[in-house]
Amino acid sequence: MNNEIYLLKSACLFHDPPTKAWDICKGRKHEEQAEKIADKVLKDSILESAIFELNNIKVRQSDYLASSVDRWLLSKIVSEDFHKFPFKKIKIKNIFNPSFSQEVKDEIANEKVYEFAEALNKIVKSVRDTRLAYHVLYASYEPLWIKNGFPSLPADTRTPSHSVFDHNYATASMINWFLGGKNPKGILLYIDLGSVQRFIAHSRKLSDLWLSSYLASVLAWSVFWIFVRILGPDIMVLPTCRGNSFYYHSLISELIANGVDKSVIEVIKNISKEFAGYNPDEDNIPKYAIIPTTATLILPELNELKKLEPFRELRELKDLENFVSKRYEEIWNKIYDKIIEVCECTNMLGELGDLATHAGRLLKECKKFNFDKTPPLPIRVIALSTDKLTEFDVKEDSYDLYHNMFKLLAYEEGKRKIYKFRPEENLDLYNMTSQHILDSWPIKSKRGFEYCTVCGSLPAIISLPSNEEEYTKYLDIGIEPIFSLGERFCPLCLIKRLLTKEKILKPIIDELLGKVSDNLPSRKFISVCDITLMPFKKTIVMKGIALNKDTELSEQLSRMIGNIQKEIEETLGKEAMKVREPILNAEKFLLEKIREISHIDLRGQLVCLVFLDNAESIFMKDFKLRKAWIKLIRNINNDGKMRKIGGKVESLNTYYAIVRSDGDNLGKIIRGEIKDGFRVEVKDYLFNILEGDSKELINYILKKEREKAKELCKQEGIANIDEKIEEISKFIDYLQNINGIFISPSYHCALSRALMNNATRDAKIIDEHNGLVVYSGGDDLLAVMPVKDCLNAVKKLREKFSFPSEHEGFDKKYNYITPSMVTASRSFSVYLTHYMFPMYAAINNSATLLDELAKKTNWPFKDALHDKEAIVEKDTLVLSYSPRGKELNSLLPLSTGSPNKKFAKTLEYVEKLLLDIEDGKFSVSLIYDFYSNFQTIKLLAVNDKKTLLKFFLRKIFEKNCEIKDEQQKHEKIIEWTEMLTEDYNAKEIKNGAENELLLNQLFLTLMLYRSGLRGIE
Ligand SMILES: [Zn+2]
Repeated sequence: MNNEIYLLKSACLFHDPPTKAWDICKGRKHEEQAEKIADKVLKDSILESAIFELNNIKVRQSDYLASSVDRWLLSKIVSEDFHKFPFKKIKIKNIFNPSFSQEVKDEIANEKVYEFAEALNKIVKSVRDTRLAYHVLYASYEPLWIKNGFPSLPADTRTPSHSVFDHNYATASMINWFLGGKNPKGILLYIDLGSVQRFIAHSRKLSDLWLSSYLASVLAWSVFWIFVRILGPDIMVLPTCRGNSFYYHSLISELIANGVDKSVIEVIKNISKEFAGYNPDEDNIPKYAIIPTTATLILPELNELKKLEPFRELRELKDLENFVSKRYEEIWNKIYDKIIEVCECTNMLGELGDLATHAGRLLKECKKFNFDKTPPLPIRVIALSTDKLTEFDVKEDSYDLYHNMFKLLAYEEGKRKIYKFRPEENLDLYNMTSQHILDSWPIKSKRGFEYCTVCGSLPAIISLPSNEEEYTKYLDIGIEPIFSLGERFCPLCLIKRLLTKEKILKPIIDELLGKVSDNLPSRKFISVCDITLMPFKKTIVMKGIALNKDTELSEQLSRMIGNIQKEIEETLGKEAMKVREPILNAEKFLLEKIREISHIDLRGQLVCLVFLDNAESIFMKDFKLRKAWIKLIRNINNDGKMRKIGGKVESLNTYYAIVRSDGDNLGKIIRGEIKDGFRVEVKDYLFNILEGDSKELINYILKKEREKAKELCKQEGIANIDEKIEEISKFIDYLQNINGIFISPSYHCALSRALMNNATRDAKIIDEHNGLVVYSGGDDLLAVMPVKDCLNAVKKLREKFSFPSEHEGFDKKYNYITPSMVTASRSFSVYLTHYMFPMYAAINNSATLLDELAKKTNWPFKDALHDKEAIVEKDTLVLSYSPRGKELNSLLPLSTGSPNKKFAKTLEYVEKLLLDIEDGKFSVSLIYDFYSNFQTIKLLAVNDKKTLLKFFLRKIFEKNCEIKDEQQKHEKIIEWTEMLTEDYNAKEIKNGAENELLLNQLFLTLMLYRSGLRGIE
């Protein structure tokens, strides 16, 4: 067994002590501190000998290559001398835009730090396998530091662009390229599963959509885990394993399988709960799909890789690419066979009975058409060796090696662009549809075969009758049917639908991600109707709670609900009243609230009402019942006594919102193109990234004040000044030319961590806004939520992407801050659609609008600071309202370009104006008056007729104002006119050939949003 790799990696994690910044400031020798802490943590553990590797040349080399552009800049002047240009204040900067920084004031006594080290030692010591001990160390080192309430400190006070943990973890990644010797040699491995968009759009129900997205994450992670498991979590640079719920899940199952001490597993579980938002005891499988289907891994060179199972057979790079593809196919194969196996255990799937038997049989038969060998998502693998760089005349030992490898990757990726792959191409469809025709079940096609109603492109093997009477013959009405009336399924879509059954999903997840518990996953599904009903359910529960204090009124409400319940039973039968468990977090919260109600009948009725399993039939489909509900709501809201207590009960809605988001310019950000990615000039970046006299020096060089620069170097006793200044000037000029910086593992480490934090945060925001997360992978998000909550959610999602905590530009956990995406931007698409409208079309449209409209929009703004016109690209929300497929769109900017917290102010205006309308301050015709005058408003705005424009707007507000008090009326009108003309004087937005006016878009948004809110036809 080759254990050296884990020892070297452990040494990397300790080569700089976490206290280094304090040590430097106090004049203590940080090297000694590093040894002391490493010794305390690793003593008597199986990783103990890593202590002797802290100064290994390989570790030192990795340390240098892992560093960021600021340290390279500094080392061009001072080499490795830590005493030059000393800086005794401790700051931590945002590596993406260092004009954001925080001072670190609190210092922790050494004894406290040693206590932390000893606690960590207890955990590491209990694991007697080197590989697992390293995993546990990696997974708990930084989280436990944070949990102790210790702050984040830089690795070097002069270049505080990132924390010492980011640096140590990045060094552990880099050592993969130094396993063979002191010169770097290794592999960059890029894995990409394509066509995800198409795959998830093939969904008819919300459960299909969730499952597709989850399955994509599971497939991707299963491939990445092959490498992570053996080589360690450090090999993942994009995305990261830190705070990654899938990593924690797999690690825990691995620890359980290897009989690791329970106390260790408990610690890892707690870390997972707190840092990855995944509680293995409660959820059994990671709650959200957070794994992107694209990853970049840093691997050792082939000669080193070959020393480890399962890589022994690899002879050349091509073998590695094939190895990944082959393993991926095997994973799919495993899923396929496992589903057949589960379907055959009919006693386990009692309720599915015949369905499962036939599904299993048909899937088995479909093997002869290659369905088991064709994963639904195509894979693309690129393995690049550092050797390849010599072809481009790049020196191997240069600090820009990593940067150049990513450039090379971008080049290769372009060269090998995936052609529009469709899984159909690997399937023997000719045979399936004309030679060995498979009879679909239960209905046999008269024409030979029918197409799948989910994807519309493959032949169906399961085909349900479209006639209700016949349909009920196959399905017992009491059971939740897995297939609906008239649905037909191809093998791939059948697999997806089967997996939405927890009893089928669980064994498959156990097989792929590892098993952490015997309990069934708490993964159950809801429909879009449950989502559209959330505002109603929430407000009626709140009403119930408010009325609880008044016996008479609670009695009255209880009677009203009781009547409608009777009506439901009479119309749909007793079975229709079946109650399910809460699924959304918002529902769990509601259940707790309901339990506070003392009126027993009312309490029971509210539980029943909120968790009706059959929401679609009861609230939406049956016209008579729907009318009864609407009447009930009206009666509650209009009742003199009831109205005064608790808020208004929201009406039923048939519309829901698909919320989608994607970070702007993320590819550029990954490649270090900070000007486009973070809206920061390279010269400002370089000036702000250093601290102390070295910062001053860079400033002189930037301003071309060479004499002053020389003087400063002379004072510091630096040799060969002219030569060095010349070299730095050239370096800076080069960076300014490329509008970017050299990327490094530290930069990527901070980036992937910021994105992982964002993913967890996004999921939480969606939860808080009554939505369901379909996918949350860093900058990417797909969620379904009530119309009422969608604009607030977008506002929060956009704001927190840049400023997640009160520390501008940083996220905070305990006392530990990590950089956020600060001045990067993100665009959104919100699609308001009817619950009956085909989901695949809505999903596709929402994606197209995001890419084709939101991301192609530019906003001109007045940059007050520099008194000039500035253009903000992208950073836009496209809102669509689609009444039965006819689509109307509006566009709104989400920031004004300058780094301030005033995000999505336009959305605030929309909500505020809507509130004024609902409160009766303005009549609804206000919106339409604006709408019919768009041309005039545009003309006035474009021609800069500000006074006229103001006058015109005021007239419209005046005409529609319902406020009686003249003074108040006047104030209200002035308030709105001023706000709209001053804040929103941006003239036109540009997207393609069309020029639209922001002010008009604001009213268009208001109109569409209001339609979506009232969307009951
Ligand atoms: Zn299909």
